[in-house]
Amino acid sequence: MMTRERLYLFDTTLRDGAQTNGVDFTLADKVAIAKMLDDLGIDYIEAGYPGANPIDTGFFAKPQPLRAAVTAFGMTRRPGRSASNDPGFVALLEAEADAICFVAKSWDYHVRVALETTEEENLASIRDSVHAAKAKGREVLLDCEHFFDGYKANPAYAIACAKAAHEEGARWVVLCDTNGGTLPHEVERIVGAVCRVIPGDHVGVHAHNDTEQAVANSFAAVRAGARQIQGTLNGLGERCGNANLTSIIPTLKLKPDFAERFEIGISDAKLAGLVHVSHTLDEMLNRAPDRHAPYVGESAFATKAGIHASAIMKEPATYEHVGPEKVGNRRKLLVSDQSGRSNVLAELERIGLAIDKDDPRVTRLLDEVKEREAIGYAYEAADASFELLARRMLDEVPKFFDVNYFDVKVEQRRQNGDAEVLTTAVVKVKIGNETLINAAEGNGPVNALDVALRKDLGKYQKYIDGLRLTDYRVRILNGGTEAITRVLIESADETGEHWTTVGVSANIIDASFQALMDSIVFKLVKSGAPA
Ligand SMILES: [Zn+2]
Repeated sequence: MMTRERLYLFDTTLRDGAQTNGVDFTLADKVAIAKMLDDLGIDYIEAGYPGANPIDTGFFAKPQPLRAAVTAFGMTRRPGRSASNDPGFVALLEAEADAICFVAKSWDYHVRVALETTEEENLASIRDSVHAAKAKGREVLLDCEHFFDGYKANPAYAIACAKAAHEEGARWVVLCDTNGGTLPHEVERIVGAVCRVIPGDHVGVHAHNDTEQAVANSFAAVRAGARQIQGTLNGLGERCGNANLTSIIPTLKLKPDFAERFEIGISDAKLAGLVHVSHTLDEMLNRAPDRHAPYVGESAFATKAGIHASAIMKEPATYEHVGPEKVGNRRKLLVSDQSGRSNVLAELERIGLAIDKDDPRVTRLLDEVKEREAIGYAYEAADASFELLARRMLDEVPKFFDVNYFDVKVEQRRQNGDAEVLTTAVVKVKIGNETLINAAEGNGPVNALDVALRKDLGKYQKYIDGLRLTDYRVRILNGGTEAITRVLIESADETGEHWTTVGVSANIIDASFQALMDSIVFKLVKSGAPA
């Protein structure tokens, strides 16, 4: 095989990604995420903006023991000042970082209006900043803000900014689509023009997803010669997000057009951990993972219809563009009222339940799924409840405990016009000959019930200590006063495994109770708890 060219990955989850609405990384989060990115094989980890806030300043206060180039972000020296006379700039140079990524204007309009300075002074600021950081022994990157819009307005000036950094010795000049509105064919043309002036192995791309083409724009830039891609895990980032490295990485590794030409720092073994990396970030952010995310989503390799399912069982390539195991995902043949025996058999095989395909219990299970789905259960979304159904059919679920009684009370108390809502739950659990009574308060009836149920499960308590609820979804089926409520609960445990359970009832508390019970029983089965 011919030698492949090296393509570099630059992650800005901790800097640009931290701009996401509702995202607040603690210092401990940042350190943990940086370790995870480093372990994955990312080349550059941009961790923040030292001096901008105590967390970022803290991150760069001491060297981080990482293999990747730890990168500090900041502005070029202020116009009209010398580098040594700009305290923010001096602090940036002092940061414990391997590389510094400066952001600079490259659109003449922004230079005039936002920076209120001359085009020449902006170029001088770029040159001085690169020079000072290099003199400090740092690797230097220059993010050319609004490069594509700037290029369209004044190509000569945009190129002059990029060239100033390159000639001063910046390792990378990064072309940023800051507003995210540039289209792939424009990116390809403009990056091509830049690469005629600056060698492509010194050019990077930083795309935003405002037309949902940040990933496509990144690849367009690579086709035109750029050799560094900047992006974030799960496409985190302000507005519509940054280029999604979770999609870019497997495309680079698994699509021959890229894989045969380029080498990246991520091994096949690390690629197989990508789903775990993606979910770990979601968990730290307390977000439900996007089920439809390419490659890593729960549904990325899910097939529902029975006729497709039987083809997939014979030959997975019939309906899959890459093998799910390559990214750590799995093929999922959804069990639902539309599915046939092949879906059920495939699920039983995945769960590890040995059963002959002509066993009458397979038909019974399929009939039961269909009956229950007719009254509102949804097993395609609730893999753990399906597994329990299947295991019960094979008598593989011990009777761990019984809940003989539960009571949930919601009261509103008014004092001086202020209303306070209090929720309490009481649960009676029978384990063998022992009866335990648990009471708990919660921030709502389902939470109180959950806390009470899991407060003391006697000899089983140690198996459920790591169990947590990660998502709770309610859907009202067939409307009106006769409405049926379906509750889906997603749980996770200390191993990072996720599972979903379902409950259906005319009463939302009862539906939630069923889903909570399935979740606990599933965890006990999974942990091998004795009867
Ligand atoms: Zn950005």
